Amino acid sequence: MSSSFHLTRVKGIPVEIHISWLLVFFLFSVALAGSYYPEMAPGLSTTAYWAAGMLTTIIAFASVLLHELGHSLVAISEGIPIKKITLFIFGGVAQMEAEPKTPGAEFKITAAGPLTSLAIAIVLFALYYLFPAPGRLYSESIFFVARLNLIVSVFNLIPAFPLDGGRIFRSLIWHFNKNMLKATRIAVNTGSAFSFFAMGLGFMMIFFQGQLWGLWLIFLGWMIYQAGQSSYSQLVFQETFSGVKVSSLMSTALETVSPDLTLDELAEHFLHHKFGAFPVVYGSTTHGLVSLQDLKAVPRENWPATRVSSVMTPLKNCLVLKPDTDAAGVMMKMASLNTGRALVMDEGELVGLLSRTDMMRFIQMHMVLGSDQ
Ligand SMILES: [Zn+2]
Repeated sequence: MSSSFHLTRVKGIPVEIHISWLLVFFLFSVALAGSYYPEMAPGLSTTAYWAAGMLTTIIAFASVLLHELGHSLVAISEGIPIKKITLFIFGGVAQMEAEPKTPGAEFKITAAGPLTSLAIAIVLFALYYLFPAPGRLYSESIFFVARLNLIVSVFNLIPAFPLDGGRIFRSLIWHFNKNMLKATRIAVNTGSAFSFFAMGLGFMMIFFQGQLWGLWLIFLGWMIYQAGQSSYSQLVFQETFSGVKVSSLMSTALETVSPDLTLDELAEHFLHHKFGAFPVVYGSTTHGLVSLQDLKAVPRENWPATRVSSVMTPLKNCLVLKPDTDAAGVMMKMASLNTGRALVMDEGELVGLLSRTDMMRFIQMHMVLGSDQ
């Protein structure tokens, strides 16, 4: 992803920084160096304030990273690998390869984050109060980072899914009703209620008190609302397709094209068959997939002299599925590879084509015919 850059690896987990985090770095440093430190520890040079401001921001960032590592290490010990950790404007996200299988696992993985933040806060508060040095820059920095960790810990415990608190809430409901989907729906609805409350509060702050901080609450509420809805629909995909095999969704009425075909001949094929893509096959060998977009990317005057083989997506870059693969993860795979189609192959032989449209149609049918929720 181009909007994030790789920073380092911790215990084999890639750590990325999203560009929105740079804005936070800037704002934090300015606020600390420009007003907070001069007020708390007066009489020092501008350089000292800036050095302390930036250093504090980096330490604040490190504590967010530790929070995410808390989640990650427990997840790994529960058998769920971590794809990567990304730090962005609101903090961090540790991306798990799969959702926890049991409410107990989810509870432990989720609680590990706020507990890590809380532990850091307690240690730093202890340092601050055991060795009091009011007005000293290092002491004020310790206090600032301690308070920040306490805020991170408490904020994340708001029971609004997908915040940590919402996940803990879900794991508890899930534990009692044994139904992950229903538990998620309850947690998402509770989260939506929280986000509407936050947005309402934000509007009131702006209109009745003229406080622009209300905008922040509106933004935050909206982000939580969006995140809750999207994680719910992802789960619905997962549930709708679990136990459904790729073979029962794919199209088997295959129309293929040869790699030697020129693009103006290919255009004819698109016009006749009205498919969005064709598998490229020669003899019994599948070479790849060619889509309407691949064709459109070539200027029309070059069509007669260009062959399918030079514009197709070669097989090694295609999403290839087996007919007996569970369809549950396919939507996610398509999204992460930024493709709308997969070739279905059985022992080297092409047996079908599965498109996102086929899958959306299935979801529609499923909702119309089998709405047992
Ligand atoms: Zn967390």
